Amino acid sequence: MPAPPLPATAPVTAEIRLAYVLRHFREAYEAVPEVSIGYASTLPQVEIREVDHDFFAGTNPYPAAPGWREWGGQQPPFFFAADPALPLLELRPAGRARINFDLISAAFYLLSGWQEFFSAERDQHGRFPYAASVQCRYGFVAVPVVNHYFEVLRAAVEHASGQALRPRRWAGGATWAACITHDIDNLYSAWKEPAKAALRRGRLLGFGRQLWRHFTQKDAWDNLELVQQTVAEYGAKSTFFFLPEHRQAPNGTPNADYQIQAISSRVEALEAAGSEVRLHASIGTATDLDHLTREAMVTLGTPTNVPGIRFHYLQWEPRVTPALLDDLAFEYDSTLGFAEHYGFRNSYCLPFQPFDFRTGRAHDFLEIPLNVMDATLHHPRYLLLTPEEILPALRPMFREIERFGGVCTVLWHNENFDPANQRNGPREFQKLMEYLRSRNVAFGTCGDIWRQVYYDFS
Ligand SMILES: [Zn+2]
Repeated sequence: MPAPPLPATAPVTAEIRLAYVLRHFREAYEAVPEVSIGYASTLPQVEIREVDHDFFAGTNPYPAAPGWREWGGQQPPFFFAADPALPLLELRPAGRARINFDLISAAFYLLSGWQEFFSAERDQHGRFPYAASVQCRYGFVAVPVVNHYFEVLRAAVEHASGQALRPRRWAGGATWAACITHDIDNLYSAWKEPAKAALRRGRLLGFGRQLWRHFTQKDAWDNLELVQQTVAEYGAKSTFFFLPEHRQAPNGTPNADYQIQAISSRVEALEAAGSEVRLHASIGTATDLDHLTREAMVTLGTPTNVPGIRFHYLQWEPRVTPALLDDLAFEYDSTLGFAEHYGFRNSYCLPFQPFDFRTGRAHDFLEIPLNVMDATLHHPRYLLLTPEEILPALRPMFREIERFGGVCTVLWHNENFDPANQRNGPREFQKLMEYLRSRNVAFGTCGDIWRQVYYDFS
């Protein structure tokens, strides 16, 4: 599916990049003191070295290759780095500091999603492919590089102000947070795979047995209450994204296998028990305002004033979708992760406001980035981790989110609470939840996270 043409864009000046990045820096730490930060021409206390500003006058999706420099015991990639002979940070007398790479441009490049906006690469679902990303090319998808950049700036601001900065806290004073979410695509299709397999092997008796079960017993994926109870055992509440569209897309891609109206009392019961219920917008809505408007008007459970969204198949067209979310006054989205790999699509582990290239300002809606999806972990086109490999693979990413006081967003489909799934099923989910609980994470719904961010910083 090709990318739509580039819309008209506003110039991305140095001032615009500064304002956008510093706004997020101030949200990432508690009570950031007033310290002037900027390029040499403004004589700031914290001076940022200017590197390759012509890049932002063009439309190239990719900047020059990053340099790998030691910082905080790790070696993150530094884009817009000029002179490897200079130290990254120079602390000077009288509360002055100089940062010897263009931290603002590098953070802006990754956080704004510049690469996917200017790249025309899309996969068969219209998504920006992981294979086309700088995260894939330079191998840093599981590192929130922008948070590492912010640590350099933090050291500079601490020096300039004489005050220690602390990462922001979450509910109950927790040092990090986790959002557990479920996209509800299927409730009635667990029987289909074993039935088809029996047919393929010519085992008519086996096929008949599956068919009999289908008509006489509850489907193993018809398990919304089980999902809620499983999550509640960890003291957590989750966000359920429901698909209002039952019909498949014109290209044959399936939407829901259920009709939302038929399960409305169960959806209300989930909400009454403390879960959050939001919109899982169907195929095609990410690029179609009228279509998205119709789905946004479907009342899911109890109507509330915090509309949140995640697109089915993680469909997201960077040149169109963000503007639709502002047009419809969505308060948050949680679509932005790579389907092909766990990690950080915008190289940032906190919720953020995506950049609006048409206006040169931040969008109104909050992005709660998606870090790990069950399907990513075991899928012929994504990763093929064994159950024993899952937690060791994810742990370094979790450590990074914890270290920077971020939010870890997990997507586990209800169909993967089926005990028959022994690859990325309920046991693997439970191991992941046990890990998160053991690290004292503050569990919250996406709406809880939105409220904490919104009320702290508005
Ligand atoms: Zn879906």
